[in-house]
Amino acid sequence: MKCRKCGQPAVINMRHHKLTLCEDCFLAWVALRVQHTIERFRMFTHDEKILVAVSGGKDSLALWHILNHLGYATEGIYIDLSISEGEYSRQSRDKVRKFAGQHGDLPYRVVDVEALYGRSVPEQARARRRGGKVCSVCGLVKRHIMNRVAHEGGFSAVATGHNLDDEVAVLLQNTLNWEVGYLGRQAPVLPERQTHLSRKVKPLCLMYEREMAAYALILGIDYIYAECPFSVGAKTIFYKQLLNQLEARSLGSKLRFYTMFLKEKTAGNMRFLDLSGEELGPCRRCGQPTSAAELCAFCRLWDPPVQNPDEESRPMGMLR
Ligand code: AMP
Ligand code: ZN
Repeated sequence: MKCRKCGQPAVINMRHHKLTLCEDCFLAWVALRVQHTIERFRMFTHDEKILVAVSGGKDSLALWHILNHLGYATEGIYIDLSISEGEYSRQSRDKVRKFAGQHGDLPYRVVDVEALYGRSVPEQARARRRGGKVCSVCGLVKRHIMNRVAHEGGFSAVATGHNLDDEVAVLLQNTLNWEVGYLGRQAPVLPERQTHLSRKVKPLCLMYEREMAAYALILGIDYIYAECPFSVGAKTIFYKQLLNQLEARSLGSKLRFYTMFLKEKTAGNMRFLDLSGEELGPCRRCGQPTSAAELCAFCRLWDPPVQNPDEESRPMGMLR
């Protein structure tokens, strides 16, 4: 198998793209494809400061690598959620630290939820009897913190490492349940709203998970292999398996399913519930927009405050 571009021995065969590439050509191809994705969806420009949400996994670390390689101004953020008595989070955090150190001391900040709010996310989820719903609490906490840090730090956008497989699994789930509100919002870019809700972008949304794994492997990026223990048995994992079977039978189905969805939606051929005009007021405690009358869902989660009420007024996360 030879590289289609330079004739060297190929290391990857992307049958859905009818493309075999050697290491160097593959790395260049990934960077170019991500650059095109950023431009095609008008995610951000070289003049803007981007907050990259890094979890210690392959996708977000690879994303951070690509954005720096492409010359964008980035800073990382790692949110410590104290998963598995802190062990899973500690390991993930170590991967972020190691990666930043190996790439010229990339700047990043760590936000430690337990230190700030007095309880870890799993503990607080349990205390609030949301029992099995650690994942929804975790998502809420991550969104709030990313928004807050982006707002305080003057970042134009928050970039996450969601890849095509992630997006397609969510798309399938939302379609099977006809979640019209979520389908309306699912996009590579969520624009900013008012001052506190920052723009969210997914520059890897057209990259297959397998391609990102190859990228991380070739560059020797040391990442956390294990999935978050709370995600075991999650529906999206099952949908990913189904979609892999579909892809094996019909090459390119994942990419087609996702890109055709975006195309038809953008063309106005499919219309979903549009919540963007919904009236939002500022949360009385944190100022982030909310549809609730008093406190936003995040502040209600920590109400009454467990500890450190003063922390609310301090800037979040220290730069490393
Ligand atoms: P997940 O929902 O775990 O698949 O993560 C999706 C994306 O969210 C990752 O690619 C990261 O960009 C971001 N992310 C997840 N967990 C964290 C975390 N603990 N700290 C910062 N970013 C995160
Ligand atoms: Zn609030």
